[in-house]
Amino acid sequence: MPELPEVESVRRQLEPALVGRRFERVEIADSRLVRPYDPAEVAAELEGERVASVERRGKYLIVRFESGRALLIHLRMTGSLRVTAPGELRDDLHRRAVVRLDNESDVAYRDVRRFGTWLLLEPGELDPYLDAKVGEEPLDAVFTAAHLGERLANRRAPIKAALLDQRTLAGMGNIYVDEALWRAQIHPLRPAESLDEDELRRLHEGIRAALEHGIARQGSTLRDYRLPDGGSGGMQDEFRAYGREGEPCDRCATPIAKTRVAGRGTWFCPECQPRQAASRSSSRPSRSRRQSSV
Ligand SMILES: [Zn+2]
Repeated sequence: MPELPEVESVRRQLEPALVGRRFERVEIADSRLVRPYDPAEVAAELEGERVASVERRGKYLIVRFESGRALLIHLRMTGSLRVTAPGELRDDLHRRAVVRLDNESDVAYRDVRRFGTWLLLEPGELDPYLDAKVGEEPLDAVFTAAHLGERLANRRAPIKAALLDQRTLAGMGNIYVDEALWRAQIHPLRPAESLDEDELRRLHEGIRAALEHGIARQGSTLRDYRLPDGGSGGMQDEFRAYGREGEPCDRCATPIAKTRVAGRGTWFCPECQPRQAASRSSSRPSRSRRQSSV
C-alpha cells in the first residue's frame, strides 16, 4: 500500500500537470470509487472545476479547486494515477476513471484491487473530515519528539501498532514503521507508553529520516505502485529492515528477524532492537520486565 513517501512522490509529479488546468471531461467507470454517490453525478460535478493546488495529508491526495471544493483521493492498496500526453491514453482493463484536462492531456486512475476512493467535498468540509481521520504530519517543522510522546502516552499497544494508527501520525504504514523503528533501535513490540525521552527523540528522528529517504527515492515499488509518469520508485532496494528476513543487519550484521505485530509482517534486528528497554530507562523498569516475560 502506498504510504506517505509514495503518495508525496505522486503528488510532486501531479502538481505541475494539474495546477491551473480545468477538468474538461470526467468519466468514472467504477461505482465503487465514489460510492455511495452516483458515478455519473460525481463526474458531472467535477467537470468545469479548475485546479488550484495539489496537496497531501497523510496518505490522502487532495486536489483543491478554485471553487473551494476539493477532491480527496486515497489510493489504498493498488490505486495509481497516470498522466498522458494528448492522444496517448492506452486501453487498460483496470482503469476506473479518467479526467481529460483542458490541454487535452489525460489523467487516468487505475486500480486492480478496487479499494481506492474519490470523494468530492464542498468548501469547508475538507479540514474537519481529515482532522477526524489523521494525526499530525511527521515531516511538518512543528512536529517534535515531545508531540510524539504526547501521542504515545498511556498507550499500552505495541509501538508498531500505535504508529500504524493514522490518528497517531499521518501517513505511516507497514514499511516505514519498520524502517523507523530499526533506525531508532526500538523493538516493535515495546509498549508505546514505555519509551523514555531518549527513545522518543531517536524515534522522532528515525521516522523523519525513514520518510525522507523514501521520498528521495520516489517511494518503493512493490507490486502496483507507479508514478504518474509511469516510472517507479527505488526505495525497495534500500530497506534496512522491511522484507529482509535472514539478511545481515546494516548496523551489526545480525540476521534480520521476522515476526507479526498487529497482524502485519514485521521485520527488525533482534540485536539492535532489544525487546527489553535499555537499562538507562530506569523510570519504568517494572513495566518492561513484566512485558518481556510475555
Ligand atoms: Zn542490528
